Amino acid sequence: MSDSKQGLLGLGSSGPAVADVRARLSALSPAHLPEGVAPAGPGGDEVFDEGLQRAVRAFQQHKGLIVDGVVGVETFSALDGARWNLGDRLLVHTPGHLMRGDDVTALQERLNTLGFSAGRVDGRFGPDTERAVRAFQRAYGLPDDGSVGPATLRAFQDLRRSVSGGSATVLRERERVRRSGHNLSGRTVVLDPGHGGPSTGATGNGLVESEIVMDLARRIEGRLTAIGVSVVFTRTEHTDPSEEERAAIANAAGADVVLSLHCDSHEARDASGVATFFFGRDRKTAWSAVGEQLADLVLREVVARTGLPNCRSHGRSWTLLTHTTMPAVRVEAGYLSHPDDARRLADTAFRDVLAEAVLVSLQRLYLGDDDTATTGVLRLGDLRAYLAAHG
Ligand SMILES: [Zn+2]
Repeated sequence: MSDSKQGLLGLGSSGPAVADVRARLSALSPAHLPEGVAPAGPGGDEVFDEGLQRAVRAFQQHKGLIVDGVVGVETFSALDGARWNLGDRLLVHTPGHLMRGDDVTALQERLNTLGFSAGRVDGRFGPDTERAVRAFQRAYGLPDDGSVGPATLRAFQDLRRSVSGGSATVLRERERVRRSGHNLSGRTVVLDPGHGGPSTGATGNGLVESEIVMDLARRIEGRLTAIGVSVVFTRTEHTDPSEEERAAIANAAGADVVLSLHCDSHEARDASGVATFFFGRDRKTAWSAVGEQLADLVLREVVARTGLPNCRSHGRSWTLLTHTTMPAVRVEAGYLSHPDDARRLADTAFRDVLAEAVLVSLQRLYLGDDDTATTGVLRLGDLRAYLAAHG
């Protein structure tokens, strides 16, 4: 078989073009070739032998191409594109001669994951990809030139661990937390004890929800102010603002976070445990990623420290969660209707544990994703030491 016949290279071909294919395959990252498939064979660099054919087949399989072991236009083009990793070169839409490569594929996958539709993942930088890049840049506050250079790559880098299934709002929210640094001190936290005044909320086993959550809020407040956090309450002992009014208070305070505190009750006497809620209606368009993260953190810390049953965290479109412009989490801590939950909530030492759990979860929110300390064991002093060490 001749090298140049219809531009195809296959078993038996020879010449510099074969050496080129072999060199390209050898240079690929191991991800492209299964272990044990080596493009180098006994036949020498310029001979298309069975080793090279196996490597070509494996590469075609990996790329979703027709697996025929022959290097034609498609396979060669894929081979050429495979040398690019995202970040190796500036990516830009060039009509008439589209940029192709694995870096474009990675870009398209990333954009789609983040909720910016780049269309079909085909490794070609076309108009859909450009449109998605512009939308991403606008959401992230970058100049929307539609090309992928260092600043846009850095933005992807920052987001790599944190977001999947994002939207413009989610990105901005995450970015605000990330840029705001690692410390709680200097922030504003709005505490929203449920009910109040004439509205008692749930009652059971001699306990009154509005009183318990106010006491819990005071315990959280004490700990927060001790580390330099400004605390704003949405109500006093005697008032019961509407949910809209509570949200308005939080917005006016420019709070970083809102924590709404409630206890539950249920006619089913065995209902027991803790649940948390954040703003979430639709993962694509109406979802607070930071709210979800904080809701999970609070839940995990409370469960780990108290052993209360884990009733999970849930996305909801309740007024307080929807009308607040910052991450908001509602905690339903225990069932007053449950004898065990109630007995524990009646104990002020238990409320201190709850307060500590809330505080540590807030601090963990700002520590970011690198914090690997085990849930439920971290004390405030540990966190301060961690912060002192990590700035
Ligand atoms: Zn309530």
